[in-house]
Amino acid sequence: MKHDDQCIFCKIINGDIPSAKVFENEHVYAFLDLSQVTKGHTLVIPKVHTRNIFDLTPEVASHLFEAVPSIATGIKEAFSAEGLNVLNNNEEIAGQTVFHYHLHLIPRYGKGDGFG
Ligand code: 5GP
Ligand code: ZN
Repeated sequence: MKHDDQCIFCKIINGDIPSAKVFENEHVYAFLDLSQVTKGHTLVIPKVHTRNIFDLTPEVASHLFEAVPSIATGIKEAFSAEGLNVLNNNEEIAGQTVFHYHLHLIPRYGKGDGFG
């Protein structure tokens, strides 16, 4: 599995940095974001180190998006959210700060929930 020693998300996958795991399978890892934009804010990442969408192979994308609907549904139910945003930043200009591809799953609770 392609891995980058300097990458904090690769370290999270390996367990070198602790994280609050939401979901894991052979290809995908999901965990709570450190800075909870709203309650239950989760990051979903491929286990293969991939910088961002411009390096995402169809195979890795397919593994990732196969897992996303059930993760999103699980979060919506666990946190009793009304809805959920899926967000992805690619490159610094677009707000990417960690250069291992990730989707933000941001549960929504209504006006004043901290997002949007
Ligand atoms: P980006 O700005 O690249 O789209 O999102 C990176 C996200 O990673 C940020 O929301 C940030 O809070 C989160 N993050 C950065 N370092 C860590 C960490 O060590 N653990 C966890 N759980 N989240 C992190
Ligand atoms: Zn990585």
